[in-house]
Amino acid sequence: MNESVKKTIEALEKHNMKATYFDDQDSAVNYLMGSIKDEATVGIGGSSTVNSLGIPQKLIERGNKVYFHWLESTPEGMDNAREKAQKTDVYLSGTNALTEDGKLVNIDGLGNRVASMIYGPKKVYILCGINKITKDLDSALIRIKENAYKNARRLKLDTPCAHTEKCNDCNSPQRMCSVTTIIERRPYKTEFEVIIIGKELGF
Ligand code: SF4
Repeated sequence: MNESVKKTIEALEKHNMKATYFDDQDSAVNYLMGSIKDEATVGIGGSSTVNSLGIPQKLIERGNKVYFHWLESTPEGMDNAREKAQKTDVYLSGTNALTEDGKLVNIDGLGNRVASMIYGPKKVYILCGINKITKDLDSALIRIKENAYKNARRLKLDTPCAHTEKCNDCNSPQRMCSVTTIIERRPYKTEFEVIIIGKELGF
């Protein structure tokens, strides 16, 4: 674990959020799967980190009831999954940035993901690759805007950044940055744990 990760974990713990670190993806996924009860309902926010680790599939195969809109094929099914995910035992998400002084910074277009990270589910797990760690809030916001085009392309959105790789603070109907949240301390009705993985994951 490098100094930056150590600092981040200490800051998160000071902010009343549990923080755990794993060198690799497999150890992190095993830990997470062992921490979620078989009978728990699980909501998942749009997160390429969570998805790329194969977690949704592992939970479904094990018998957990999973609400994840990326698995749905219709707009109605996606809305239903987003809504149900807000009232689950466990919610899983990535984060757009995590600062060394213990803040989670996120952008969202609809707002369902950031809302569920704050209120609704009983326990929230955030999975975060070390590439998401930034020194402070200013660098977190810069990081998010510099990388937003990758998410826009992945989601096939017609936003200016998807074409130019630059943010122009657009008014696109598909704008991904309608809501920006900064979690500075544990939202006090929610159990909160950040799992940091010593690899580059997500954007
Ligand atoms: S404001 Fe628009 S252009 Fe800028 S990152 Fe967000 S979606 Fe892309």
